[in-house]
Amino acid sequence: MLQRQDLLGLIDVSKEEITEILDLAHEFKTRIKAGEKKMGYLTGKTATILFYENSTRTRTSFEQAAKYLGMTTINIEAGTSSVAKGETLVDTGKTLDAQKNDFIIMRHPMGGAPYLLAKTVQASVLNAGDGINEHPTQALLDMLTMRETFGSLQGLKVAILGDIKHSRVAKSNLFGLKTMGAEVRMFAPETLIPKGMDQLGATICSSREEALKDVDVVMGLRIQLERQKAGNFPSLGEYAANYGVNEEHLALAKPNAIVLHPGPVNRGVELTSAVIDHERSRIEDQVLSGVAVRMAALCLLDEARK
Ligand code: ASP
Repeated sequence: MLQRQDLLGLIDVSKEEITEILDLAHEFKTRIKAGEKKMGYLTGKTATILFYENSTRTRTSFEQAAKYLGMTTINIEAGTSSVAKGETLVDTGKTLDAQKNDFIIMRHPMGGAPYLLAKTVQASVLNAGDGINEHPTQALLDMLTMRETFGSLQGLKVAILGDIKHSRVAKSNLFGLKTMGAEVRMFAPETLIPKGMDQLGATICSSREEALKDVDVVMGLRIQLERQKAGNFPSLGEYAANYGVNEEHLALAKPNAIVLHPGPVNRGVELTSAVIDHERSRIEDQVLSGVAVRMAALCLLDEARK
């Protein structure tokens, strides 16, 4: 049983809790695939989707998940709300609480912002990405796609390549995958790997070959130019040539390895188009996993509040 009212990161989520979310998400995904669109387990509940940063997939995915569960959703774009008039996050939270919201789903450019909000409000807070800190539902959807392909996460070898330094996806995956018994390898220019990843359990690889050899999962991450003040590598072309993954590199992985990417993809930078569109790519399947995982998280957080 999920032991929390908020889902802020995977750093402290147990194996049992992750398994419970993935089990329920798998059930929802199967039902969506079978054509079910109304599963009104949370009818009458409300969720406010409060995004201070751009998003396509995550926002629509949370909204779709809430709608499948029969919830009412309210979308707030920080640029058009009182936030633009200088309202603090805590005051925004208090207002949303006074309106008796059950859930606040928040994306924010500052790491830790959802933790502050969660301390302030009665509603359950779901972190939809906080700066370079965590993006828990993204890692859960990645793990769902992996588990559905291979049956278990225990012992899986996962290579994460790309802008690890600025990636909340890399951190949430590292925490979640280690908890579930998988091996996580990382490969990027030294300037794009933050210190301490090895102490958190990642194997830092010194070549693309070392990273990809015999892995089950190849995960590409976007170069986050919007979060980089100084050039961490000479040019995108040089990055692609030395750190990107093409079909030849993919052949180093196990024959049944899958390719994942959280999107949005920089085609031809972290992965070539041939790899993105490869028969082993599960990038589209990740999107449906996302809806299912968010449905499961909403249901289980609601249950935990009772
Ligand atoms: N969509 C993911 C995120 O919001 C990855 C990315 O933006 O590159 O973190």
